[in-house]
Amino acid sequence: MSLIVAKFGGTSVASPERIQMVAKKLIAKKQAGHQVVAVVSAMGKTTDELVGLAASLNDNPPAREMDRLLSTGEQVSMTLLAMAIEARGYKAMSFTGRQAGIETDGTHAKAKIMMVHNERIMEAIERGIIAVVAGFQGIDANGDITTLGRGGSDTTAVALAAFLHADLCRIYTDVDGVYDRDPRLHPDAVKYGRISYDDMLLLARGGARVLHDRCVELARREHVVLEVCSAFSDAPGTIVG
Ligand code: ASP
Ligand code: MG
Repeated sequence: MSLIVAKFGGTSVASPERIQMVAKKLIAKKQAGHQVVAVVSAMGKTTDELVGLAASLNDNPPAREMDRLLSTGEQVSMTLLAMAIEARGYKAMSFTGRQAGIETDGTHAKAKIMMVHNERIMEAIERGIIAVVAGFQGIDANGDITTLGRGGSDTTAVALAAFLHADLCRIYTDVDGVYDRDPRLHPDAVKYGRISYDDMLLLARGGARVLHDRCVELARREHVVLEVCSAFSDAPGTIVG
């Protein structure tokens, strides 16, 4: 039995139909005998909409309130996914960043994960429950909600994989792997079967929108093997590491 952390981005959970698709994928992993921890982003463009709402009321919203607001997006997708899994007869529980024990520094909007207190998630998966964790959020030493920077759910997934000693961290996205250029803009882009952490960091920092750069740094430091693959097909993805 292995422990898999599977992260699904906003496009993959953008509608009830897509949430069903994600639930099926997670259940298939469970049926294959794995322990499963899912990490989700907010549905579709939710985070952008929340940013817009804040801007309509305050040109310079307080960072603490902003993080509190933005963290709600992931709390919607995580609960809906847990419900979809339960509706199929499998056990699931959703966890906010705080409930998942994700402790960060106090830098609002770009917080850094310091530690993951993994007891609650471990206990859930040992009972056969699929744990669904809100990406992108944590809690600082004051007990305030922090967020990790846009695209930060990737980093949540890698941190959980590191602190839960997962065998694999799979990042499901809307492209089927890592390409030398953005395949959404360049049809002749070439896909890597495998790429080193260093090369992936260069791509991430160079603006390849496939992985959050902090997620790659953390994976390199903690030796977390990542696989980037499509949420919409079963094609093999790209192994990073
Ligand atoms: N929902 C957040 C964002 O849109 C985090 C993420 O998607 O990873 O940036
Ligand atoms: Mg993303």
